[in-house]
Amino acid sequence: MNRGTLYIVTAPSGCGKGTILENAADKHGLVYSVSATTRHPRAGEIDGVHYFFKSREEFEKMIKDDGFLEYAEYCGNLYGTPRAAVEKLLDEGKDVLLEIEVQGAMNIMDKLPQAATVFILPPSIKELRRRLLKRATEMPEVVEQRVKQAICEIPFAKYFDFVIINDDIDNAIRDFDACIAAAKHLRKCRGKDIDNKITEVLKNE
Ligand code: 5GP
Repeated sequence: MNRGTLYIVTAPSGCGKGTILENAADKHGLVYSVSATTRHPRAGEIDGVHYFFKSREEFEKMIKDDGFLEYAEYCGNLYGTPRAAVEKLLDEGKDVLLEIEVQGAMNIMDKLPQAATVFILPPSIKELRRRLLKRATEMPEVVEQRVKQAICEIPFAKYFDFVIINDDIDNAIRDFDACIAAAKHLRKCRGKDIDNKITEVLKNE
């Protein structure tokens, strides 16, 4: 069985990635990896579904035990991808979706260059701020912190395989579909098949 593909999606907070990713997960059978975080749960967030909510001590113990594929600090909280769960899903041939910030994404790109990476951009910083304020899940000062973070993250988009601008949700969903189709196709070329293909091409000089 072929190993599953790892999709890494980075989108600054307020880019409207939720709808795009839910659509892609449903349509393409991608499995979300549930991250661990030291952030407090927001209203409606469930432990083990949205995140594994941890104390800083618990999180640091997981770091020590090499329990994370990657982790990073974002706006004062730690976030990390539990290694064992992701490896197990990939070994089972499942395609896995990591929705993580930029430092974590850059770390994984180094370790797992075969992962497909997508960066979702907001149409502008003004629009990003408007969306964050409208969402009202954070205090205004935290919104400003997240806007500042987005301004630092956006230049890293150039290191990703694909970049999508979410100025229209239907277009962004369609673009994301195209990224998955391209990544699947490329993976076929990069995956086990490639040895057979090369042998085939070199067979008759
Ligand atoms: P939020 O607090 O809005 O849920 O997430 C804040 C940021 O942390 C988002 O950019 C989100 O993509 C990122 N994030 C969530 N889980 C992880 C993770 O496991 N690792 C890293 N590096 N970032 C994460």
